[in-house]
Amino acid sequence: MPLTKIRLLLTLACAMAACVAAAGSSPTPDDRAMLGFTPASATAQLSLEQRFDAQLNLADQREWVKQMSSEPNQVGSPHDKANAEFMLKKFREWGWDAHIETFDVLYPTPQKVALELLGPHPFTATLHEPPIPGDASSGLPGALPPYNVYGGDGDVTAELVYANYGMPDDYKELARRGIDVRGKIVITRYGGGWRGLKPKLAQEHGAIGCLIYSDPHEDGYARGDSYPKGGWRPAEGVQRGSVADMQQYPGDPLTPGVGSTPGTKRLTIKDAKTLLKIPVLPISYADATALLQSLGGPVAPANWRGSLPLTYHVGPSSAKVHMTVLSDWSRKPIYDVIAKIKGATAPDQWIIRGNHHDGWVFGAWDPLAGNAALLAEAKAIGGLLKQGWRPQRTLVYASWDGEEPGLLGSTEWVETHAKELKAKAVLYVNSDTNGRGFLGAGGSHSLQHLVNQVADDVTDPETRVSVRERLRAHMMIEGGNEHASPEAKAIAKVAAAGGDLPIEALGSGSDYSSFLEHLGIASLDLGFGGEDDNAGIYHSRYDSFDHFIRFGDPTFEYGVALAKVAGHIVLRSADANLLPMRFGDFSSTLDRYVGELHKLVDSTRKATARQHRLLDMHAYTLDADPTRALAPPARESDVPTINLAPLDKAASELKQSAQAFQAAYARSAAAGFKLTAVQQRQINQQMGRMEQALTDTDGLPDRPWFKHFIYAPGMLTGYGVKTIPGVREAIEGRRWDEADRYAVITAKVLDGYRAQLDRLTALLNQAG
Ligand SMILES: [Zn+2]
Repeated sequence: MPLTKIRLLLTLACAMAACVAAAGSSPTPDDRAMLGFTPASATAQLSLEQRFDAQLNLADQREWVKQMSSEPNQVGSPHDKANAEFMLKKFREWGWDAHIETFDVLYPTPQKVALELLGPHPFTATLHEPPIPGDASSGLPGALPPYNVYGGDGDVTAELVYANYGMPDDYKELARRGIDVRGKIVITRYGGGWRGLKPKLAQEHGAIGCLIYSDPHEDGYARGDSYPKGGWRPAEGVQRGSVADMQQYPGDPLTPGVGSTPGTKRLTIKDAKTLLKIPVLPISYADATALLQSLGGPVAPANWRGSLPLTYHVGPSSAKVHMTVLSDWSRKPIYDVIAKIKGATAPDQWIIRGNHHDGWVFGAWDPLAGNAALLAEAKAIGGLLKQGWRPQRTLVYASWDGEEPGLLGSTEWVETHAKELKAKAVLYVNSDTNGRGFLGAGGSHSLQHLVNQVADDVTDPETRVSVRERLRAHMMIEGGNEHASPEAKAIAKVAAAGGDLPIEALGSGSDYSSFLEHLGIASLDLGFGGEDDNAGIYHSRYDSFDHFIRFGDPTFEYGVALAKVAGHIVLRSADANLLPMRFGDFSSTLDRYVGELHKLVDSTRKATARQHRLLDMHAYTLDADPTRALAPPARESDVPTINLAPLDKAASELKQSAQAFQAAYARSAAAGFKLTAVQQRQINQQMGRMEQALTDTDGLPDRPWFKHFIYAPGMLTGYGVKTIPGVREAIEGRRWDEADRYAVITAKVLDGYRAQLDRLTALLNQAG
């Protein structure tokens, strides 16, 4: 989607957002026993997993990706609907109770897009991705022109200004150079922060249009050979994507918080908070070059320069730029495919598994590689049914539509069924794009041990060690070099200790968002990557079957590995005596996040003091070249004392409660989970609702849709996570009172979580 993850960007986001979880204590015998199972039930489970694995094959996934990516499949296209119907048929063939759930959502499609440079050296942008030799689908009709969905309509003519990544700090640099973007068109490059933030900040600074181009520095020839020689972005490749303000809420812009069902009251377009007012266009660097060459003004700061063969200036341009975006703002249908298998003994406890099926054009990588793994799991589970097996809990498999424009299919489904999901859903397992390399796993930290145990039992196709040991080696190498970020170094240390590997905290970027952040359902996001060139064709016409089988997962062995990891997690969660969750892992991760907040306050205070000292001694003025206009930066506000004590106290009390729970769980496991059916049902129901206790109905400051108080996408990072967001973002935004206030509110949420955990421990102890 908006939200699809490129491993590369994910790694960056992760590094910036402090995603290291506390993990990695040395393994103990308890750690190795299959979590949630007795020795006998664990043996049976392993044999079930072997029978599941035996039904996975490479040819199926190859065929599904090939067929589903054979025509453009964006929202509203005939092939998008055909793909949904194809999957419906398959699910039914495999023995699932399946249906298509349709929602009508606002989905503007471009009717006219145009971009030209006026003046003495006129240039008209092609806004077109031409066919590429060897890429069979690249010349097919049926695609929309490259565009950023949910930008405004407009026909504007103005001077151009270059704003680097278009992030808040970039505007501070422009201001120091006396450059104002009011009434101008801003050109920004992809990278450095979420796409949607670029036009949003441009609009807030008074710009009347925004262009976003792909500089080869980020994902083109500076990274590797470009397509078709290598996998990286060719000169004409364009990154499409959503620019809805999804940090407010994802889903249909007209129906925040409720399902977009017939008869629902809808906002007017003018009142939808997530829609931009100014026109936005994504362009290739082939088109951007002439525009960048037209810029005058100061030479761009060193870290603003990309890899094009020109001198980067900030502008404004001497000639004007004319851009047009006019869209059809009608509603379009989206098709979620929902398939169920009712649980034998606990039908009211749901294990949900999802991946989206809509692409920007052909979408072989994103999302069809991940979607093929999901289909493979569903087929193998169908095979197990035919052998007479039934899950104890209910399985729900979902192939979402409309993820790319804004997580539409998953969000509308979650909002429509919110009440039932809060009562029944215990786990959501997501995947999206998939490639070769290392297992990427993010999610609720109560699931960290489950992920580790499953990853230890799946073999890496390339090295034949477990995918967990391969990931461990990767983490140790990545964090071992001197240029590694502090977070990567911390991860390397945890990995070297030999125990569990940390999973990442989730921000946004795929369909888990509404499950985790709106309802508080424990969630995971899984996928392989790191050895592929996905970034080069991300959201372009060249995300095709031919590209995928050269630069993605040519043999589909990583598709099978993903089906094993996700499938085993689903099967274990469906059949465990007690749900495979460890709240102690959440508690130790929380300790780390609270520690990071203390460090953040300290480092902010130090940086502020340094800036004040330099300003007081006029250092910026004395340092500046007087022939070039460069004003000192604006003076930052003083950092008062921030009271994080409520959080310290809540985290330390939670640690006690988590230890008591782990002890009770271990005792029950050692006794062979001798629980009555009623006790088992009650305890599992409570466990499945633990994550909901990390939410608060009022939600986060200024964005009540986001209700999780530990994980949220950053307001200024988009996909990148902010942990303990109420406090962290207040500190980063220098809203000191708010930081104090949300330390108290977050502590209260954590106290509620602890109380629920204590009740759960009491239930376990009573059960003996
Ligand atoms: Zn995707």
